[in-house]
Amino acid sequence: MPLEELDWPVYQYEIVEAYHGRKWPGGLFLPKGVDPESPPPEKRWPKPVRWYKPLHCAEEILQDVSRLDPSDPQDLLAFVSRWGRLGVGASYPRPKDPATGWWGMYMLADLTDPWGTGQTDGVTNTAEHLGDIKELNEGLYTLQHRRASRYSWPQLAWALDGRLGGVKLSVRPAENRLFPLYRIRRLLDGLYLQLWERATEAHQLRRCRECQSLFVPDRRDQRYCKTNGQQLCARRASLKRFRRRGKRQPGMSPAK
Ligand SMILES: [Zn+2]
Repeated sequence: MPLEELDWPVYQYEIVEAYHGRKWPGGLFLPKGVDPESPPPEKRWPKPVRWYKPLHCAEEILQDVSRLDPSDPQDLLAFVSRWGRLGVGASYPRPKDPATGWWGMYMLADLTDPWGTGQTDGVTNTAEHLGDIKELNEGLYTLQHRRASRYSWPQLAWALDGRLGGVKLSVRPAENRLFPLYRIRRLLDGLYLQLWERATEAHQLRRCRECQSLFVPDRRDQRYCKTNGQQLCARRASLKRFRRRGKRQPGMSPAK
């Protein structure tokens, strides 16, 4: 897949409830070291812990999404501290309109720009988007395996179609030709792009027997997912089998 090499910053985040004189229901992810009361201009924020290219490991990030619990803020905090924030910004409830008595819609905060390259993401916004990705992924898996699914193929197509707006076609000059590129501006769009690839390629997703994540197998008989190219789950599973065998034969050493 021709990809733009998006560089994405990763900070060590913490969750703060108040930022810039305003309370944020659910909290915000803020890099450690940034004063939530008087945050500096973006240019003078602390240096990220690392920069990386999300599109080069988007499969691994998607696997991580399918392992986490979007309703658990600590899981979300671990996710953004590993891969950076999604780039979705933060929203807060609009105050009640005295004329109509209605609570307004959630609105996107002004601390983020339309591309989501602002400074921080809301915990609730992150939970919603990661939950959405997880659900689409599960939907794809159940459809591929012809199990009861909350989606039909047309519904999944419609849902995914609506989420690909942040992916732009682009070109770069190459020798005697132009080189095609998909351009994204934030981590979230990279994850939808990867989901699009998962959905449109012929490979079936499989569920890891150890950590339950959904992954694209690179071997026909692969039962466990890989982390960073390492067979962590396969090793963990065989260790468990080994220990179980040891317990079933008390008094015997499990190792020969
Ligand atoms: Zn696994």
